[in-house]
Amino acid sequence: MSLDPHSIIENLNETQAQAVTTDAQHALVLAGAGSGKTRVLVHRIAWLITAEFVSPYSILAVTFTNKAAAEMRNRVSHMLNREIRDLWIGTFHSIALRLLQINNEAAGLPRNFQILDSDDQYRLIRRCLSELELDEKQWPPRTVQAYINDQKNEGLRPDEIDDMGDYNTEIFLKVYGHYDDHCRRAGLVDFSEMLIRAHELLLDNDDLRAKYQQRFSHVLVDEFQDTNAIQSAFIQVLAGDKNSVMVVGDDDQSIYAWRGARVDHILDFQTLYPKAEQYKLEQNYRSTQTILDAANGVIANNQKRLGKNLWSAQSKGEKIQVYGAHSDYDEAYFVAEQIDRMLSNTTKANEIAILYRSNAQSRLLEENLLKRSIPYQIYGGLRFFERMEIKDVLAYARLVNNRHDDLAFERVINTPTRGIGQTTVNRIRNQAQMDTISLWQAAAQLMQNGTLSARAAGSYVQFSGLIDELELNSREYSLAELFSDIIERSGLKDHYLKEPPEKAQSRLENLDELINAAESFSLSDEESSLGLTPLSAFLSQVSLDAGDTDNNNEPHVQLMTLHSAKGLEFPVVFIVGLEQGLFPHIQSMEDPVKLQEERRLAYVGITRAEKQLILCYATSRRIRGKMSACLPSQFLREVPKELINQIRGNIHPPKPQMSGYHRPGTTFNRPGQEQLPYQIGQTVRHSRFGEGVVTDMNGKGDYLQVLVQFNDAGPKVLAAKYAQLEVL
Ligand code: ATP
Ligand code: MG
Repeated sequence: MSLDPHSIIENLNETQAQAVTTDAQHALVLAGAGSGKTRVLVHRIAWLITAEFVSPYSILAVTFTNKAAAEMRNRVSHMLNREIRDLWIGTFHSIALRLLQINNEAAGLPRNFQILDSDDQYRLIRRCLSELELDEKQWPPRTVQAYINDQKNEGLRPDEIDDMGDYNTEIFLKVYGHYDDHCRRAGLVDFSEMLIRAHELLLDNDDLRAKYQQRFSHVLVDEFQDTNAIQSAFIQVLAGDKNSVMVVGDDDQSIYAWRGARVDHILDFQTLYPKAEQYKLEQNYRSTQTILDAANGVIANNQKRLGKNLWSAQSKGEKIQVYGAHSDYDEAYFVAEQIDRMLSNTTKANEIAILYRSNAQSRLLEENLLKRSIPYQIYGGLRFFERMEIKDVLAYARLVNNRHDDLAFERVINTPTRGIGQTTVNRIRNQAQMDTISLWQAAAQLMQNGTLSARAAGSYVQFSGLIDELELNSREYSLAELFSDIIERSGLKDHYLKEPPEKAQSRLENLDELINAAESFSLSDEESSLGLTPLSAFLSQVSLDAGDTDNNNEPHVQLMTLHSAKGLEFPVVFIVGLEQGLFPHIQSMEDPVKLQEERRLAYVGITRAEKQLILCYATSRRIRGKMSACLPSQFLREVPKELINQIRGNIHPPKPQMSGYHRPGTTFNRPGQEQLPYQIGQTVRHSRFGEGVVTDMNGKGDYLQVLVQFNDAGPKVLAAKYAQLEVL
């Protein structure tokens, strides 16, 4: 039964329908969140197949994640009521890889070419540095790795880059060239290579280019604002002169500049195809007007926007809840408690998402959800205690706790690499099997017999000595100290630091969070009465939590980073950790360009919510085991006040004269009260914000917050401890 093409545009607004049915060769849909951009692409594919009789074989659609690709294929299948296999839908990487696999010879690659992950890439770069006799201290392999990937993302090979007489660039280029030679000789392809190589494949082979240009009469790209130069160029080559290209995107949602993505490609598209039709979708179908107003309020603080209006036909909906927790634990407790309440009404778990800036934040949330037996899933990632770095450190701890834990032994004996290779490990294993003893005992025997190679034996002495010493220390040290000791002294920290910056940072954040978990752990009465050590009680608790995975199909609450929430939507969204330094992230706070990208991330987060948005911050948070004072995120204060229902805390502090709580001129050294360093009404100077007047204070001691009305910078809440205000 064939489908009536009109049914495809029935549920679209006028502009969407125009975009879906357009005859224009090139089209750009530039529109805000939730306005139906992805929907336009899905309907466009269905329209092309049904109304214009384009074969699915001739359509290529690019999405940002593999999940999004699967979903798009499903949605089209569903609309057309049949499977559509020939359609190519995938991420840039998956499409490039497929092209290289099909055409490996033309691409100069062996049949089964090997893909280098970033770890492999790093190792190869180190080898190149050593072959070129370059000192790693002066030329850190990680920096070189980032440089090479950046160049590849720009589509540049070493011979296309001018060093402009700069010595450092000259060296970087030399390593890049050497690395490239290695890869070519051995048939190795790293992640950035996939795209640049696929691009070159089409550029350099007239026949292939003609073939694919002929095949893909229609190219469609979602999330176009996050394409980098080489991806953009790849689309251009595939499209040639004749094919049709439709891209959709939103400049306000560009959040991957750190991976080479540039909003400018949207503008370039218009320059490249001056006749491109442009569609602006202004109706948002996802969120209530209140949520949209909040998103608009925040993003309005960014400069250089392409600008657009978004409105919703939905009612205003509920106000945005803002919860000011007094600690990170309180925050996680609150979120789990709220979810528990929602679940006992009509909300289903999969209608709820919790979004955070850094992966490590999931730990406390997971702990609280587990306690309430609320099913959850980490979208696009692993649960906290399943993460590699956590398992590595825990394996050391398990060995400290019990030398005969063979699984832990195997995991860390050569992690990080310490010259105890597979042969040695096999020998230890055989010995253990023969004598039915643990690996630890077997290793000790082999050491005694002197049967290990000198190198392996030397490393093993150090390794076993470290474990013994850690155990000895653990009797005096706290659990948190034991974990930081393991992280530092095992070499794991340095090991992770060698990874690409974002990955390394996320791992270190997770490790810090493990220290926090240890710091806040205490033995239950029962555990104490059983005589358990904190270490063994902690390890049992962790294994219990980790084993508590429910793989059934019941709906799960979705936990994810703000970055991975792109394109998704949920009736209820919690965004947690809205604090200065966490979100906006500490590394972006001082740089206006990066701060704007953080703000776009906030915009992405807020616009995921359909009906209910709950924003949380904590006024203190454990950082590396220590409680630190935190200030509410500036993004919170950018949400118009009238949209907010503040449950606790206060992001818009009341004016001092209205509060009647600290009157100007009041001094605070009343009997029994702590002496405060400032007075209301006092003029102070801040190194960055200049002069201003203290208008309110909150908290005390290390947690004292001061509200200052700065002459130029406006009102700011500052942590007295760090602000170093000079009294004038
Ligand atoms: P984002 O920028 O977040 O990726 P988007 O612009 O891609 O958002 P979609 O995800 O396509 O937006 O659409 C948002 C929601 O609005 C979806 O649930 C979609 O089904 C719905 N929607 C879009 N257009 C319409 C319409 N004309 N009628 C009804 N619902 C619509
Ligand atoms: Mg979308």
